[in-house]
Amino acid sequence: MSASRHPALSATDPELAACVAAEEVLQAQTLRLIPSENYVSAAVLEASGTVLQNKYSEGYPGRRYYEGQQNIDRVEALAIERAKGLFGVDHANVQPYSGSPANLAVYLAFAKPGDTVMGMALPMGGHLTHGWGVSATGTWFRGVQYGVRADTGLIDYDAVRELALAERPKVIFCGGTALPRTIDFAAFAEIAREAGSVLVADVAHIAGLIAGGAHPSPADHVDVISTTTHKTLRGPRGAMLMCREEHARAIDKAVFPGLQGGPHNQTTAGIAVALHEAAQPAFVRYAHAVVANAKALAAALLERGFDLVSGGTDNHLILIDLTRKEVPGKVVAKAMDRAGIVVNYNTVPFDPRKPFDPSGVRIGTPSLTSRGLSTEHMPVVADWIARAVDAAAKGDEQALAVIRAEVQDLMAAFPAPGLPLS
Ligand SMILES: *Cc1c(COP(=O)(O)O)cnc(C)c1O
Repeated sequence: MSASRHPALSATDPELAACVAAEEVLQAQTLRLIPSENYVSAAVLEASGTVLQNKYSEGYPGRRYYEGQQNIDRVEALAIERAKGLFGVDHANVQPYSGSPANLAVYLAFAKPGDTVMGMALPMGGHLTHGWGVSATGTWFRGVQYGVRADTGLIDYDAVRELALAERPKVIFCGGTALPRTIDFAAFAEIAREAGSVLVADVAHIAGLIAGGAHPSPADHVDVISTTTHKTLRGPRGAMLMCREEHARAIDKAVFPGLQGGPHNQTTAGIAVALHEAAQPAFVRYAHAVVANAKALAAALLERGFDLVSGGTDNHLILIDLTRKEVPGKVVAKAMDRAGIVVNYNTVPFDPRKPFDPSGVRIGTPSLTSRGLSTEHMPVVADWIARAVDAAAKGDEQALAVIRAEVQDLMAAFPAPGLPLS
């Protein structure tokens, strides 16, 4: 299979080619439930593996530090125009290498080392780069953190306001990596205005839902939108920063020359293609199907006696709290992997266990929706999860093997975008 798909690679480096071929099989045969992952289209894959790779392009379209940019300028301008159109913003920078460097550029643009910055705590669902201690953003800046309410699992906007007014942070981040509920950008905007803070919506997880109209847009409420391009947006691994005209220069200067050198032009091309795809009616249907599937899966899990953080989901993501099941998230995640269901273990808010051995698993529907699974399949998925959790608790490897065969069977009927026939 790999020899025909990647003939040059197979001839030059059969060992590496075998790794790629094995990964193709793994991605085809498993039920991938990690909410930050997806399957890019064949077109995005092709664009991301082109000779654009060979070009140095420090600077921005029309103002580069290297010659020979006739085609690269066009590629980057296309990506920028498409991002502006899709998200309804004045300005887009498509050069950040990934979500974490994009957020670093935001700090560079608006804060000085030692300044106070504010974000959601990592164990509450925030991202490392929102000022958490082990991240550079929490050591070079003074990070203060908000969370969710213990009784509802929802963001406590009163507590957010109180903290913001007490601390007056330079920058406030909203958004996160394990938030199953809609973010109220207008509420954050009011708080940031009162506190005199720059407000950043980090929509890395939900960018595709926003593009497809399945989650409210932050565009009219925040100073800066930060996003990865490889999660629900279904593009290559990369990131974008978007803002109003007044912040355009600060953002561009922070990305280059502030933080980065030459942009990864092959990735820019893949982003441009993904943005083109995300502007089609089919992507609007995709985004809504992701949410419908997540809601159906959450309902099916609740029926099977699972505890879900916040009691369910509004978006693509579900956080299962396994505390009452008396089996740790890591044990469940590893057992599910053996059953052909790929998830990640995750802390739940107020987790009594340690981050490396937490009480939850985080799942989501972007990948399975890309393969065409629909709400009618979600009870089946919930059954597999319930059986895998039981099997994990009992150490029943036989049961996991049975699930694995069933998963493989169903997945064979739903070929994944970008992969050879499953
Ligand atoms: C994934 C994510 C990031 C970081 O993206 P990387 O590309 O992994 O660096 C930043 N913020 C949020 C909210 C994320 O979910």
